[in-house]
Amino acid sequence: ALDKEQMQGLRGIREFLKVRTSYDVLPLSFRLVVLDNELLIRKSLNILIQNGIVSAPLWDSSNSTFAGLLTSTDYINVIQYYCQFPDEIDQVDKFRLSSLRDIERAIGVLPLETVSVHPMRPLYEACRRMLKTRARRIPLVDVDDETGREMVVSVITQYRILKFIAVNNEKHTILLKKSVRELGLGTYSNLATADMNSSVLDVIHLMVKHNISAVPIIDKGNKVLNVFEAVDVIPCIKGGAYDELASSVGEALSKRADDFPGIYTCNEDDRLDAIFETIRKSRVHRLIVVDDNNQLRGIISLSDILKHVLLFGEEEDNIRAG
Ligand code: ADP
Repeated sequence: ALDKEQMQGLRGIREFLKVRTSYDVLPLSFRLVVLDNELLIRKSLNILIQNGIVSAPLWDSSNSTFAGLLTSTDYINVIQYYCQFPDEIDQVDKFRLSSLRDIERAIGVLPLETVSVHPMRPLYEACRRMLKTRARRIPLVDVDDETGREMVVSVITQYRILKFIAVNNEKHTILLKKSVRELGLGTYSNLATADMNSSVLDVIHLMVKHNISAVPIIDKGNKVLNVFEAVDVIPCIKGGAYDELASSVGEALSKRADDFPGIYTCNEDDRLDAIFETIRKSRVHRLIVVDDNNQLRGIISLSDILKHVLLFGEEEDNIRAG
């Protein structure tokens, strides 16, 4: 019966996602910071920090086109470049946002697939595309009727979508009574972790190696003390202080903004409905799964939750077609 209810809840949410558009997710009024592609990377950091944001669409003013999305991954790439070519630090200081693609090439990472969606397409489509490309945020790009030019309306994130689901689907989410343990929701083996004395660089290398956006910081007894997130690199390299990346995670975490939402934990016996309750109420970007002694058990990312909501119980070939 629990299984049936769970499926009924998930189907309800999926139907909801099919009749809403990405546009519906946006607040009535919002501010969008778009950065010119010719801006110095060094300066872009200050702008993000001053505006309290962690990403921004890029604009190529030479041909009036959307030039991609700047995210913490780009800064991590710059850091990797700095590590591989330490003699070029002066060069790094002169890089513009338009050089990001050259940096990717120089360090040998594959450029992220640039996906965008039209704001009036079903939200379900944006979600599917996010899961397929592993993009955590997707720009909403529309074409201006009069000029025929592309314009970036906004950016939607996994976080915003899950929040939107949580706020508008209480009658469906209360049906999700299966526990994290029963669903096998999240990752429980080969966890990448670090301790307070690890250097910021070590943690960045871990994130790159495992292709993840957060590393739990634990003590000797496996107790969770904090989480270092990809977005935490932004204040670390503010002002071009790349040499400070050798300092400890503990020090770096003390630089977090005052409004840092904190880290969220849950227990393997918590049910998915409770997780949606947390998403509804708080700024959650992932849940750290701990046992009763606060020892690390696993990690549930927003993509794990989104994947469950969209794909659990779907037929294999259905998934491939999406
Ligand atoms: P998101 O895609 O929501 O930004 P991540 O990139 O951090 O989240 O997570 C991608 C996948 O890796 C998820 O399945 C998640 O459970 C797993 N994961 C996240 N952090 C870690 C970690 N520190 N160690 C091992 N696996 C992780």
